[in-house]
Amino acid sequence: MSIKNNLKEVKEQLPDAVQLIAVSKKHKEEEILEAYEAGQRIFGENKVQELIGKQPHLPEDIQWHFIGHLQSNKVKHIAPFVSFIHAVHKFKLLKEINKQAKKNDRVINCLLQFHIADEESKFGMTEEQAENLLNMPQYKELKNVTIVGVMGMATFTEDTEQVKNEFGKLKHIFQNIKTKYFADQPEFKELSMGMSNDYKIAMEQGSTMVRIGTAIFGKRNI
Ligand SMILES: *Cc1c(COP(=O)(O)O)cnc(C)c1O
Repeated sequence: MSIKNNLKEVKEQLPDAVQLIAVSKKHKEEEILEAYEAGQRIFGENKVQELIGKQPHLPEDIQWHFIGHLQSNKVKHIAPFVSFIHAVHKFKLLKEINKQAKKNDRVINCLLQFHIADEESKFGMTEEQAENLLNMPQYKELKNVTIVGVMGMATFTEDTEQVKNEFGKLKHIFQNIKTKYFADQPEFKELSMGMSNDYKIAMEQGSTMVRIGTAIFGKRNI
């Protein structure tokens, strides 16, 4: 078992249209480099301090996706380089991302996070909250963020029917929002769902981005 082989095995399961985000949280720079040398360029992290600690030591052509819960006061630390932020769950955060992206003369890709699991611990909006956000006049003034899709996490359970239904629900939300708010914006196309234990189910439900850690890097260490 090596990172290189694991990566190859995971990739063999993914159609070309599905992007792989290699979730490197709690793994060392050497391990990230091993995946990089095997061709992986997109990595995901979920803690700001950890990401800004690693990023300067790793190749510049890595695309960093921030996949975790992000506090507004920490956006400034990742805004200079992050390419996607997966878990936007309120307008205040989106506004801050826009402000910091503007300072860096960049546009940051964002995904709206939805609460689809039956676990209270997970963050995310309801469809109604997302619609309220998208209807705000202030939202339309944000020029340094692009909303490119939606993200969600299914319940951690053995019940594959439940997981399938939750991903199906997210797909449905994605389609509703796309039709209502992004019909003329082809960049709104990403459905970020699926992790090591459920990415095959997520892909059957239409996932375009899977976020996979353990199946590539093994058990998390640091
Ligand atoms: C850790 C994490 C993942 C990857 O989880 P694995 O089970 O290790 O594949 C995916 N998405 C988010 C938001 C995470 O925090």
